[in-house]
Amino acid sequence: MSEHRYADRVRSVEMSGIRKLFEAGGPDAINLGIGQPDFDTPDHIKMAAIAAIREGRTGYTPNAGIIELREAICEKLARENSLACRPEQILVTAGGSEALHLVMEALVDPGDRVLFTDPGFVSYAALATIAGGKPEGVGLDATLHIDVERAKEQMDGARIFVLNTPGNPTGAVESEESIRALVEYANDRKVTVVSDEVYEHFVYEKEHFSAARFGDDVITVNAASKTYAMTGWRVGYLAAPEDYIPEFLKVHQYAQACATSISQYAAVAAYTGDQEPVTRMRSEYRARRDLLYDGLTDLGFDFPRPEGAFYMFVPMGRNLIEKAIDAGVIIVPGSAFGSRAPEYARFSYATSPGNLSRAVERLGKLME
Ligand code: PLP
Repeated sequence: MSEHRYADRVRSVEMSGIRKLFEAGGPDAINLGIGQPDFDTPDHIKMAAIAAIREGRTGYTPNAGIIELREAICEKLARENSLACRPEQILVTAGGSEALHLVMEALVDPGDRVLFTDPGFVSYAALATIAGGKPEGVGLDATLHIDVERAKEQMDGARIFVLNTPGNPTGAVESEESIRALVEYANDRKVTVVSDEVYEHFVYEKEHFSAARFGDDVITVNAASKTYAMTGWRVGYLAAPEDYIPEFLKVHQYAQACATSISQYAAVAAYTGDQEPVTRMRSEYRARRDLLYDGLTDLGFDFPRPEGAFYMFVPMGRNLIEKAIDAGVIIVPGSAFGSRAPEYARFSYATSPGNLSRAVERLGKLME
């Protein structure tokens, strides 16, 4: 095998510990490792994609995305997030992932500090590093919410603060008060806030607040992926103050040209069509959360009931995490999400209630 050379920025990044779990375990394994909806994309969205194919709407689109979709996203932001914006402020991307990537590429200079929570979504540290920046974790409090005072202490001189609520891997939903305090503090110090809201519709008791309501220098990242069970369609967007868009477009047009045309037409149907499937998925996730939470707390695990997304972050100790995975209960060790929570494991409840019950039963047997 030949030895190739790689950029240091890239070589220092590890492959995500989660992708490896896609194929983990034997035939009898119960996979609670994967962070994607187990629902099918709603039919009216599929039909819109089929129509786009049949009608030949399959060429390149404008780099920023088709105008129908950018308008639909503005209407969605007004309706659901109390945010006023114009299509010129929207850039349609290949999922939330591309939006996060191009923001880092466009804003981060070598050595710039990029803050995000630890534990947190795996991509933030990796993308900051690939962009040449310095990733820096911010600790959570005992309830797995952002420790606002600690976050403030790290804010001075940082380039970006990534806020993710509802949070992956914790399922925590931040309060209006915390979000406002973080955004105001960050923007006062010229720290750009990147607000990752991909789980906004999966909030069970509290209310979701968009960070852009509380500051002028906030970039909202979102996607059709989780909300409409469309992870494979690769369509998402960012919404930002208008002057950002031409610079972001430089990265996007050379790396991506445009998001998939067919997926963009499907996303128009998603954002403008019947929202009942979203309501149905939310209530299903909520019931599963309660099933899994009650099962795990009955076994003696002690942690607050998560308020959103479709994850549960459970303090169970490294030994038991390993034993569980060996016994075919596929969960993700906390070490995959940073350095501060190796004793925790993430359970995804985007799977059937039957699987959740069997996983709890198997864990119970292991603990006997
Ligand atoms: N942000 C968070 C917090 C996520 O958990 C994920 C996917 O797991 C993404 C962004 C990326 O989503 P997409 O599939 O739209 O790229």
